[in-house]
Amino acid sequence: MRLIALLLAAFAGTASAAACGPDQLNTERTITLKREGAAYGTNQHAALPLQPGEVVLTFDDGPSPENTPLVLKALADQCAKATFFLEGQHLRTSPDLARREISEGHSVGIHSDTHPHLTQLSPEQQLDDLARARAAYKTVFGVETPAYRFPFLEETPTMLDALKQANITVASIDLGINDWIPEDTTDILAQRLNASLDKAGRGIILMHDANGPTAKALPTLLKVLKDKGYKVVHLEWEPAP
Ligand SMILES: [Zn+2]
Repeated sequence: MRLIALLLAAFAGTASAAACGPDQLNTERTITLKREGAAYGTNQHAALPLQPGEVVLTFDDGPSPENTPLVLKALADQCAKATFFLEGQHLRTSPDLARREISEGHSVGIHSDTHPHLTQLSPEQQLDDLARARAAYKTVFGVETPAYRFPFLEETPTMLDALKQANITVASIDLGINDWIPEDTTDILAQRLNASLDKAGRGIILMHDANGPTAKALPTLLKVLKDKGYKVVHLEWEPAP
């Protein structure tokens, strides 16, 4: 009897580690957006069609060889799918890590080429940054980017026009955790997430996979979401024509 109980316990342990079950945060559903240059995120635009308690996980500024692998592991451990907004300059130096994001079921867009303050650049310079980021994306993934997130969320009319014409979704945010301070602890980031969730109740969450404290804190942050009963919605886009 004792041997059977031990075997059953061992089997159960293996099964729960390998599968996505009720112990994980999981991904509740997927929203597939058209390539039509719409803009989402109540920071500046319309809300995504999310129910109360539904969140979209997004990560900016990568891929980072140091930190992104930790983020990918934390997401895989919780069976949670996210969207990564990549800088062209990091796509050129870490193409394999970027492709790993796709192969693990996440979606990817761009987040400028070199993360400039676009509002301080001439229209030509802004469009040049966009062209370089789009080219880096196409080189790595073989298709056009479906989505763009503005660096510092600083939008310009020139860029909004160009993105609309290129049928690239503008992905703003609904809530964030202000995760760019190197001294932030996991506790501080978890408290910020808690407070932002209580205020917004749903929406697109901005985090930074290139930020060390965020990568380290992510298992705890995902547990905060699970404990509060939030459901993860994954954003995808229709295939490029
Ligand atoms: Zn950024």
